[in-house]
Amino acid sequence: MTPARTSAVASLPYVETLRLVDHHCHGVLRGPVDRTGFEQMLTEARVTGELAGSLFDSQIGFAVRQWCAPILDLEAGADPDRYLRRRAELGPEELTGRFLRAAGLGTLCVDTGYLPELVLSPAELGAAAGAAAYEVVRLEAVAERVARSGISAAGFADAVRSQLAEEARNAVAVKSIAAYRVGLELSGTRPTDVEVAAAAGRWLAAAADASRVRLADEVLHRFLVWCGIDAGLPIQFHVGYGDADIELHRCSPLLLTDLLRALAPTGVPLLLLHNYPFHREAGYLAQVFPNVFMDVSLATHNVGRRAGALIAETLELAPFGKVLFASDAFGLPELYYLGSLLFRRGLGQVLREGLDEESWTDADAARIARLIGVENACRVYGIGPR
Ligand SMILES: [Zn+2]
Repeated sequence: MTPARTSAVASLPYVETLRLVDHHCHGVLRGPVDRTGFEQMLTEARVTGELAGSLFDSQIGFAVRQWCAPILDLEAGADPDRYLRRRAELGPEELTGRFLRAAGLGTLCVDTGYLPELVLSPAELGAAAGAAAYEVVRLEAVAERVARSGISAAGFADAVRSQLAEEARNAVAVKSIAAYRVGLELSGTRPTDVEVAAAAGRWLAAAADASRVRLADEVLHRFLVWCGIDAGLPIQFHVGYGDADIELHRCSPLLLTDLLRALAPTGVPLLLLHNYPFHREAGYLAQVFPNVFMDVSLATHNVGRRAGALIAETLELAPFGKVLFASDAFGLPELYYLGSLLFRRGLGQVLREGLDEESWTDADAARIARLIGVENACRVYGIGPR
């Protein structure tokens, strides 16, 4: 396998050759995408057009042209039209194979809660990447399936618990998307089954038919988090940066402080995903709570050549044993490759600067790279390195 190529600028052999654990990603789209679809999936924007300009004119757009073009046998910096033509020529399967193999991934933890019918399954994704693949179950998706089954409010709590036990049988983690629905200001108090039944009653009554079932209730999101705790599974939280559905001012990880304090005695790992632009706040939480971990996924590829600055800011406070690599790639195979490549470039740059300043030794830099790229995730999820 060819590891992700970075550049001579910050290249460190022990960063380049890591077989990364991508602890949070999604599936690759099965079908082709047109130009509009490609530009939209490149960033979190939903709409492009004349007024908005091209999303190729962004840090990630330039990263695609610079770093992804050579994987398609084009010269670095190929223009967008040429890039998209070549993409269409090769087709989805070939693109997926090329980018995923080039990403140098050893293990994938795949969130199957978003548009599962359109994307590769964890097993298919793992096969394309030559990596082990595990599933991450989205809590709200479980609750919504239970709601659609026609359950009564009184039976809701038990039904969710047994449905989760069934669906998460082989999963390595669960994930909360409370950030998308109600924001992160979740109380630290565990809701009683009576409170859950009352909240479920309001929700089920308001959702007049199955197509309108969309969970957005603070009590129920909090209940789901405690279900994850009871199941003993690490819990991933969407935090910060996301698409236009999010109200970003409600997604600072600091809003989770009350809940994190309540969950600390359980010792169950809690993983703050993405975090940008609140990665320094997340670093604080990762420092003070023994079971809190973080990544800067999604942002790492969106900020393109600024990935080094992002990783440097993250590692100001966050202990090196608390930071994990993830891409949060969805849909486009380019994003798995760029997530990996820009992480390696960024981390390499940070470690190289420390070496040049004699802040740490080469042996320590290699150890930090292994922790962040592989070993922290193996410890959190109880999985072996590959
Ligand atoms: Zn995600």
